[in-house]
Amino acid sequence: MKLVTILIPAYNEEDVLGQLYERLNSVTGELPDYEFEYLFINDGSKDRTLDILKEFRASDKRVSFVDLSRNFGKETAMIAGLDYAKGDAVVIIDADLQDPPELIPEMIQYWEEGYDDVYAKRRSREGETFLKKFTSKKFYQLLKKMASVPIQEDTGDFRLLDRRAVEALRMLRETQRYTKGMFSWIGYNKKEIEFDRDPRAAGETKWNYFKLINLAIEGITSFTTGPLRLSAIIGSIVSLCAFIFMIWVFIKTLVIGADVSGYPSLMIVILFLGGIQLLSLGIIGEYLGRIFNETKRRPLYFVDEYNDDKVREIEHKKC
Ligand code: UDP
Ligand code: MG
Repeated sequence: MKLVTILIPAYNEEDVLGQLYERLNSVTGELPDYEFEYLFINDGSKDRTLDILKEFRASDKRVSFVDLSRNFGKETAMIAGLDYAKGDAVVIIDADLQDPPELIPEMIQYWEEGYDDVYAKRRSREGETFLKKFTSKKFYQLLKKMASVPIQEDTGDFRLLDRRAVEALRMLRETQRYTKGMFSWIGYNKKEIEFDRDPRAAGETKWNYFKLINLAIEGITSFTTGPLRLSAIIGSIVSLCAFIFMIWVFIKTLVIGADVSGYPSLMIVILFLGGIQLLSLGIIGEYLGRIFNETKRRPLYFVDEYNDDKVREIEHKKC
């Protein structure tokens, strides 16, 4: 029998785990031809999440859990999950039931038809603010224009991945991760299915605008060096204008002679150039920071406990 791992990153999700477990059970109950592994990644939760996971595991050995040594964020929790997943296919799903588990049978069906990455596209997003929907849409448009790989709009991490896609993702060990882009980058046969995104079943979202802005910058800087090129282009255009202006000033001085006025234009030019220079420096800094972080070559995460066993080896098995 084929084994399907359901990978669930969870951070402070005590309110929703019970519901999630039941929904998963009713879905997997209707798929007797497959074995399932529920792999929870406890991303340093401060509430009872880990205790609840242990309770699940005590009565149901399909449940596995990886307890990370602290909160690393969802992106890292996902790669940890991919490292530990045993299945022939892995379904990544949010703990908060915003991704309906009822879609899993359809995903599995397409997987059997030979697709490696069956991803769920949101037709609607209920329970999210207008501002969040709007900014998310604009961000995807921008990223799509700039990145060299096709980025799927309105698609989260909710998807089924075949083993070979999982192995491909596991080879991408960069520390600043933008997993949504990586799914596209690895390629393979993709299939889109649509669903209506529900509001969170219980608990609170872990995202805020600061985190989202960071993720957006992450997305752009990890998938395209476009901003660097843009600053080079703007730099060239500005220099060209400055050159033409220089000739004009030169000729004007020869013909009319020098005058001391010109304070406003001088000020404008200085401020404008100063602004452009700072912006370009900022962009370079953003990429330099990424290089700095990657050159440290740190492991992506540490695991405290895996299925009730303390993980002791310093040399982490996956890194
Ligand atoms: N999550 C995580 N680590 C974090 C933040 C979130 O593992 O630092 C998990 C969280 O438990 C949930 C998923 O990532 O399963 C999505 O988080 P959330 O629902 O808060 O994000 P949203 O749906 O609002 O974008
Ligand atoms: Mg959510």
